[in-house]
Formats: sequence, C-alpha cells, structure tokens
Amino acid sequence: MFAPLPDKPDHDALERAVLELWEREGTFQQVRALNADGPIFSFFDGPVTANKSLAVHTAWGRTLKDVFQRYKALRGYHQRYQNGFDCQGLWIEVGVERDLGLNSKREIEEYGLAEFARKCRDVVVRSSRELTKGSIRLGQWMDWGNDYFTFSDTNIEYIWRFLRLVHERGWLTTGHRSTEWCPRCGTSISAHELHGHYEDRIDPSLYVRFPLLDAAGEHLVVWTTTPWTLPANVAAAVNPEADYGLLENGDWVAVGLFPDETFTRRVKGAELVGRRYQGPFDTLEPGAQVEHRVIPWDEVALDTGTGIVHIAPGCGGEDFELSRVHGLAVLTPVDESGRFYPEYGWLHGSSTAEAADQIVGDLGDRGLLVRAETYEHSYPFCWRCHTPLIFRLSDDWFIAVDDVRQQLLDANATVEWTPAYMGKRMDDWLHNMGDWNISRRRYYGLPLPFYPCDCGHLNVIGSRAELEERAVSGLEQLEELRRPWIDGVPIRCERCGEAVRRIPEVGDVWLDAGIVPFSTLGWQQEAYTPEGYATGAAKGLTTADLPDHATWERWFPADWVSEMREQIRLWFYSQLLMSVILTGRAPFRKVLGYEKMLDEHGKEMHGSWGNMIDAEDAFARMGADVMRWQYCAQPPDRNLLFGFGPAQEIKGRLLTLWNSAKFLVAYGNVDAFAPRFADLAHGPDGELQPLDRWLVARTGQLVADTTGGYERWLTVDVIRAFDSFVDDLSNWYIRRSRRRFWESDEIALRTLWYAIVTGLRVVSPVMPFLTEHLWRTLVADACEGAPASVFLAGWPDAGEPDAALLAEVAELRRVVALGHKARQASGLKVRQPLRRLVVDGAALAAAHADELRDELRVKQVEFGPVEATELHVKPHLPALGPRLGKELAAVRNALAAGEFEQLDGGRFRAAGHELGPDEVLVERSGKEGWAVAAEDGVTVALDTALDAELEREGRVYDLIHTVNSMRKEAGLELTDRIELSLPAADADLLEHADWIKAETLAVALDANGDLEPAIARA
Ligand SMILES: [Zn+2]
Ligand SMILES: [Zn+2]
Repeated sequence: MFAPLPDKPDHDALERAVLELWEREGTFQQVRALNADGPIFSFFDGPVTANKSLAVHTAWGRTLKDVFQRYKALRGYHQRYQNGFDCQGLWIEVGVERDLGLNSKREIEEYGLAEFARKCRDVVVRSSRELTKGSIRLGQWMDWGNDYFTFSDTNIEYIWRFLRLVHERGWLTTGHRSTEWCPRCGTSISAHELHGHYEDRIDPSLYVRFPLLDAAGEHLVVWTTTPWTLPANVAAAVNPEADYGLLENGDWVAVGLFPDETFTRRVKGAELVGRRYQGPFDTLEPGAQVEHRVIPWDEVALDTGTGIVHIAPGCGGEDFELSRVHGLAVLTPVDESGRFYPEYGWLHGSSTAEAADQIVGDLGDRGLLVRAETYEHSYPFCWRCHTPLIFRLSDDWFIAVDDVRQQLLDANATVEWTPAYMGKRMDDWLHNMGDWNISRRRYYGLPLPFYPCDCGHLNVIGSRAELEERAVSGLEQLEELRRPWIDGVPIRCERCGEAVRRIPEVGDVWLDAGIVPFSTLGWQQEAYTPEGYATGAAKGLTTADLPDHATWERWFPADWVSEMREQIRLWFYSQLLMSVILTGRAPFRKVLGYEKMLDEHGKEMHGSWGNMIDAEDAFARMGADVMRWQYCAQPPDRNLLFGFGPAQEIKGRLLTLWNSAKFLVAYGNVDAFAPRFADLAHGPDGELQPLDRWLVARTGQLVADTTGGYERWLTVDVIRAFDSFVDDLSNWYIRRSRRRFWESDEIALRTLWYAIVTGLRVVSPVMPFLTEHLWRTLVADACEGAPASVFLAGWPDAGEPDAALLAEVAELRRVVALGHKARQASGLKVRQPLRRLVVDGAALAAAHADELRDELRVKQVEFGPVEATELHVKPHLPALGPRLGKELAAVRNALAAGEFEQLDGGRFRAAGHELGPDEVLVERSGKEGWAVAAEDGVTVALDTALDAELEREGRVYDLIHTVNSMRKEAGLELTDRIELSLPAADADLLEHADWIKAETLAVALDANGDLEPAIARA
C-alpha cells in the first residue's frame, strides 16, 4: 500500500519534513560515502559576501550549483562540496560604519581599528550562519562547517605569496594617477568596480569666460559640468584642426558649434595654441601660481560644448595624461574625503557639491559666466555606498598586466563558456583592461605586504614565517595577519637593515576570492593539515582542512564554476589572472554564467521600492522547489523575472505531476498493487500494450533529453523536457488508459509507476524535496530493497528509446490537437460525436485510427487528401513583385479567381507563370459543413453534419459526465456501485443502457425519474 497523498502538496511543510529526514538519516553523508571512490568532479564555489542573510538573488546561483552537484552525484562523481564566504572589504565596512553611526575614516580611527575589525568579524559570523541556514532550507547540499572564509590567515598568506611572485617578476607598480574616487569611502575605485554603476544624473552646465591676457576684451569660452574643478584649472585645450571664431562680444568659440553666429575673425585652433589667459580662480592662491595657456588636443569634442575644453589634471584622467605630455602643473583641490584644502581660501572645507554653488555665484559676480544651465548625463557612483564619484589624484598599487595579457587570452580560449557570448565578453575585457589597481585606503581587508624602505628598496613579505623571521617587534600582539595588529609589526629591510613599516593600504577584495583555487586546496603545501585552513579570523568558524599539493593536483583546475555575468570582470577574472600567473593555466574548464534577476514586472529589485523578496518569505509562500524550478526554467542568456505570480503558475504545472502520482496511489491501493523495484532498471516486463510500450519509450526519451540538458549545463532544457513528458504522461497515457485502471490492469500500473518514478529521478536535482517525498511514497516505503533516498538510487539508464514508435505517437498527438482545434472552431461541444474525420499528411498516425476515433469522437477516420477544403492562393508580393513586374496583376487576378493549377512541391501555375512555394501564401478553409485545421503540412477535416443518432449519443456522453460529477460530489469511492434513475424525458437513452452502466458503475438503471438524474449507492 502507498501512503495516500493529499489533494495538493503543502510545499513548505513537505520540504521541512524532508530536511528533517535527510538530517536524521544522514542522507548527504551516505551519498558522499557512496561516491567516495568515484571519478572526481571538481567545482569551486565563488564566495558569497558574508554581510547579509540569504536573498532570492543569491539563491538563484546556489540553486544552479546544487542542481549540477546533485546531478553529478547521481552519476557517481566524488565531490568536495566546499562552500565559501567572502569576509573582507568595503561591503562589510560600510555596513558596520552605518550600524555604529560612523561617518568618516577619521571617526573609524577614533573608534579604534581593533574594535572595528572585531565588529566587522561579528557581521561575518552572523551572516555566515544566516546564509548557511537559508542555503540548507533551499536544499543546497554543501559540506557545511568546512567552509572557507577568505579572512583566514591561510588565505592571506597565499595572497602574499602571489604578490611576492608578482613583485619578483617586476609586475608590481605604483601609480600616481588621477582616478575615480569615492569621497565617502575615501578610496580610489578601480575600473572593474565601475562597470554597471553609472546612472543618469543632472549636473550644472556652465559656459565660462577665460579672459585672454594678450588681447583685452577677448575671452575663451569653455563648457564644464563639474564647476568644482575650475579652481584646479591650468590649461584650455582646442582642436588644432578645427575652425574657431571671435564673436562681436569678444568670446572665442568653435565655429562649427555656433552655426548661426556672425564671427568677426576666424582662425584654426592651432593658431590659438600657446596663448595665455587669466585662470578662472587666480583669485585663489593655487591658481595664481600657475601660468594658464592654450594647448592642442586632437580629442576635443566638436559636437557638444564650445570646442574649448577646460583642463584640470588633478581632477580628470585624460587631463592628467595631458599634463604629462605638455608639462602642466597638477593642482589637487580636495582631500581624501572630497573637501577643499585650506589653500583654497573661502572654499576650504566645502564638499564638491557645496563648492559648486559658491563657484557659480562667484563667477557670476565677476562677469565670467556666459550661461548657467543643467545637463543630464551618465555619471559613475560608488558601488558600495552610492556616493557620486569624483576624480582625484591618488597613489595606488597596481599589477601590470601587459606581459600576461596574451597568456590570459590563451588560457581563456581553453575554457568552455555557457552561454558562449560570455566567453567573448571575457576576451573583450582581457583585450581592453588596464593594470589592476589592487590597493584600497581602508581598514578591513587583506593587508598588502608591502614595506617600502627609505633606502629605496621595496620589501614584499611572502609568508607568516618570513614575517616572523624579519619582525623587529610586535609579534606578541599579532592576533591575526590583519589590521591593526599587522601594522604593529615593523620588519627589517633586507637591503639596509633598517626597520620598515607596512604601507597602510589593504587589498582589493577580488584578490581574496581569486586565490581560492590555491588556498583551499593546499597548492605547494607539503603536509595535509587537518583543520589547517581554520586560521586567524576563521578560527572557530570552520573546521576546513588545509590539503597538500597532491590534493591540489587532483582537484585543479575546476571542471566547472558558475556565477552571474558581472563576475566576468570580477571573480572569473581575478581567479584567471592569479591562476595564469601562478601556473600558466586557466583555473576552470567550464563556466556557466547567467544574467540578472529582476522582479516579475521586469524592474530591478530594491529594498526601498518594496519589490524585494525575502528568501524566508519565498520559502514559506512558494517553497524551495518552486523557487528552484523558477530559477532552472530560466534561459541563462536572459534576465530572470522572479516573483510570486510566476510561482503560482509553476505550482499549477507541478499539480499535473502530483495528480498523476495521486492517481497511481489511488488505483494502486484499490488493487493492492506491489511495485517491483527491478522494473526501474529495464522497465516493466510482461504483456505490454502498445500504449505501455510507447510510455516506456517516452520515458527513455525523457532520460535522454534531461541527460543532454544537464550535460549542456542548461537546466532550461531539463525543465522543458520534463514539462512535455508530464503532459504526455497525464494527458495521453493516463487519459487513454483510464479504463484499464478501473479494470485493475497490473501492467498499466507497473508502466505508470515506472514512468512516474523515472521522471522523479531525472528531475530530482531541480526539485529535491517533492521528488524525495514522492520517492519515499512510491518506492522506498513500497518496495523491498529500494534505497531510502532518490539521491542514493543513481542515474536511470533507459536504453535506446524506440524512435519510430515515439514519432508515430507524436504525430498522432499532433493530429488530435488539430482535431480539437477544428472542433473548437466549429463551435460543436467536445462531447458531441461526429460522423467522419479526414486526415492528410500524417501517414504515421494511420496505425492509430482507433485512438483517433475515440479521442475526437468520430465514427470513421480516413487518411488521404482532404477535399473538404478550399485552397486560397495569394501572391507573396515581396518575392513575386520584383520577379514578375507588370505581369503580377495578371497572376494575382488568376489566383483570386481560383484559376490555377497545383503542382507538386508546393508549387502552382497561374496565368502562364510557375510560382515557387516561397512566392505564394497558401490558406485552406473548410467548405460548407466541414471544420478544418492545418499546421506544418498536416490537415484535418471534420464533417460537422449531425443526425438523430449522433445527437442521442451526444446526450449520453453529457449524461455520463453529469453522473460522474454527482458521484464525486456524493463522496463515493472509485469502486462504489450505484443505482441510477434518469428523467422520463431521457427514456430514449436507455437504448444505450449497457454503455451508461459501464461508465457510471450503475448496477440498476431506469427512466422513471424527475427532471434531473438521481443516483443512490447500490
Ligand atoms: Zn563609497
Ligand atoms: Zn632599506
């Protein structure tokens, strides 16, 4: 006996029960033990930033990771299942600052860096617990408790080792550059952090006069949208090839930009070069020190502004480059927090936004402002705190990439990307990327192990052992290899022997995540150290081992990694770069990327917009299986529109599967059906009917299709295959076999059981809970010797499905679908029998005439040309017009009048011209008395004429339907017999008494009733 199933699954409750079961039985541990000697499938988990609980965005990626790890486990692969947490960097710092109410770096330092670091670690501790809890609820099987935490001393040491190697190769450089800078975070922002963080914003648009010193009354007019940079102006750039003109009022502008103006003089830009002008803020000390002049620049835009560009090398990347070419002064007006330095007089202490207003006012007062407007443009924001970025001069540390660029491209060429265009994106990035800015002026991050000595030597520490050996003092207080403790350990310079301090900067977080394929696998490690990864801040949070080099060799590179597309420039890149530098190889063989998640209406999800979905809420309201289905149904090259609406629709579809299982349980229990576990290996044996053989073949096709989907890393193909299988199972096999279930046909039960259970097995990686629950019900608790979990049952081998049989039934189902369409078009009731059906173009379906008769309620089915249609042929003008020219009209008229000859191959002849299949549009419609439907070369025609006999049969069908609904409403069991009394007016139906009795399980039937049929339990 099967345990009975309720009408619908309560996903949340069912999933919690399955989680308890897994926990109690140690199912995951059993799966790992089963595969311990299997082939290796190596997967590296991209670390999730540990500063939050599980979000539905993160759950998407986690689901994909879990789906493929479960699939590989079912195929017998041995896996590591190591989860990772990203534990350092500004994401976490910014959150802690907010919690503590700290608003600047000064306040952090006053608060105390040790305490600040502890608070940041607390966030990681809390968040890693929450993320673990949420991921387990999602059904993700990982080796929880043996996670890697990127703030472990081990991870830090591995990065140090990498940086030392980079230094030895001469690729570690420092740069004094003008760079994007976040004034709130007080640090520069590197190129890969900018992508996707541009937004439209409105800025002032100013036209400002720079008076020329050698010609009274003449001024250059420049255009700027960043007024705060004007006090740092040192030059004005013109395009040497362009024409410039002098207006009556003394303004110089590019002629091309002011086509309606009258100019009193015109010169080439080159002639303006070298002229000197009075700077806009020579009233302030820094400006007064500078000799302002006109410089040439080919890049001056001639489509916006005035054609004369204000140059402030301390406030712009291109400006800074120009300063090198032309030997210009570089003024840096603002400090780390974006506020004006004291030498800027009345601007001292203003932020760039505050200064803008004052500057506009001052320019106006002095008559230098030609026009002040606003301008909307795309502007970069800080990805962590959403502050508008500014340009600022900064001394940063870089890894020079030119020498390895080709190697990176070669390594990427060995990687198989899904979708393929993401590999192209990686190539584009590798071609165009600049040196990697790895330093951040912050606190809670990887301490860069750089100790520049006054003697000119740069000491780079490569390990803790080396640090200890060279330390001058401070080792006793070194809690972790991180700030502030590390800063208390000066070392001895290896060249001059003097004590040297570490630079205060920390590293880009992508160093932390990029080193993972080495730090977690024990690259170059001599001994395998149990719990050896649990060092520094990670102590007490994990029991992860530090493996040895032999382990690394077995598991590197990863067979597969998967993250969202933006990781191309982030984790995929940092991993690739570090791996190529350390080993010359790509760290992964295959990558699955995916696009973004939006809400169900296509909007970005934001806490403040109220459309954010909490994972807890999603688990409770839709269930993890439905979430996972939603993620898996998504083609990875398009944005996922996630929400409760789509979840409802998925629940509806899952109900078809559920109802099929429920049907099996109900009829199986009536017949005390005992499924045989051995059937799962080869399908049911015995006297299979054609429909059974078809379902077995159809199940084989499902196994082949889903296997293909998983092997292509495309869960969307798995879902499509499963969806169409469930439709065939429910709407063809079960529907066509109902009678056999009533009649306790064991072969039908065995076939249905085999198909449903095999279906559960192949979709179990996507929906681990529902499938596990049904496996318990249909297999584990019902068969002797069956594994307790679907995940312990391995992958089904369905053999080679019978392709001919599948094609036959697929065609039959097409004909049936067309038949229903034709019936619908005719307006006839589905239950009304008809006399005749003609089918054309579906020869394979001819063997199934009986089923067609039954399905479409027709007495007679004929295969052959459909004459009940009228052919309408029209010229396809875009194709035919150019060829026929003037002749077209004659052809068109002939076609319209029906004066054409049909040739083979879809060709026609009309008005003396032969027309190809691409040159005509063909339509068929039913002649009077016929309903016709056609698609893809198949045409069906239904004779819609009714007679008394047909009408009577139609009434019988209606009656059977009504009575069976009444049985259900009366709560009768499937096997209960009844007595049935028809209204006297239906006495003529008694002609079909046997039929009616058989279909309603009536043992007595009369027509002595009232207006409605009446039933009573017999
Ligand atoms: Zn910021
Ligand atoms: Zn030195």
